[in-house]
Amino acid sequence: MKRYNDLSAWLKNKFGCRVFKVSLSAATTCPNIDGTLATGGCTFCNDASYAPLSTNRRTKPIKQQLVEGIEYIKRRHRTSKFISYFQSFTSTYGNMETLLDKFRESLDHPEVVGFALSTRPDCIDEKWAKALSQLANGKLCWIELGLQSSNNETLRRINRWHTKEQFSEAVKMLKTNSDLPICAHAVLGLPGETKKDVLETADYLANQLIDGVKIHNLHVVKGTALAKDYLEGNYKPLTLEEYVDWTIDFLERTPPNFLIHRLNAHAPRQLTLAPDWSINKLAIFNAVEKEMEKRDTWQGKGLGVGVHEVSGSL
Ligand code: SF4
Repeated sequence: MKRYNDLSAWLKNKFGCRVFKVSLSAATTCPNIDGTLATGGCTFCNDASYAPLSTNRRTKPIKQQLVEGIEYIKRRHRTSKFISYFQSFTSTYGNMETLLDKFRESLDHPEVVGFALSTRPDCIDEKWAKALSQLANGKLCWIELGLQSSNNETLRRINRWHTKEQFSEAVKMLKTNSDLPICAHAVLGLPGETKKDVLETADYLANQLIDGVKIHNLHVVKGTALAKDYLEGNYKPLTLEEYVDWTIDFLERTPPNFLIHRLNAHAPRQLTLAPDWSINKLAIFNAVEKEMEKRDTWQGKGLGVGVHEVSGSL
């Protein structure tokens, strides 16, 4: 029985095989790293953790990053379809024409079926929405908007420098000016947050005009402000049991048509300080599925929908 609406199954159904994301760098930065809004970045952010196998990828042309990424995935999985994924930093922060050229280059490959990019709600505007919509031209183009929490106090605490109101405005703007699907990022286990905050974030997102959610566990990566807090005893990560429990409660409040892009986040072992369980992606995934089965629950159950209504709508 399908208990939540996962993106990988949706992609497989749409394209006839497993579709993998190839992580690329457009060599951007971020307004709360470069001093425009702040310095230091979000307290958990270390870009090296997103592409540990290619620390010098920022200097490589997009085509080279793409070919190397595809070869790497093909050595491990049988597939011939990919999504170019601009994950690092803020992908719409920089010269628009230069960045659009990079996105365009990433689509110019016979095995690439679309692209996705991560950005902040305060770094995307009407001009971007229209240009990306035009560039996609019928191909998949997911806009991943970082929210992390709907609690503005938490956003301040983690040095994020945008608000939930800016997130809502960005969603409305994107839906008015484009047909691009939107995926929100939410993090469970942020400093100072309780389960109540996490469920408020789920309720907030359920009322936004978005199409998907990426749920992350907060993991402590070396070289971050969070790592310092953790080592000084000022931050305690969630246990796996807590994460599974909170994730399922979150899913129960999530509309059944939202695609679930991810249920975990991890960095390589050599960069991860804690928690140990975050390294094992499969174990997290299995634990969530097993517990959902045990509870006989599903995405949207808390909204009063039946399990047969769990389906992708794009
Ligand atoms: S907004 Fe994104 S790229 Fe910028 S510091 Fe935060 S997590 Fe890192």
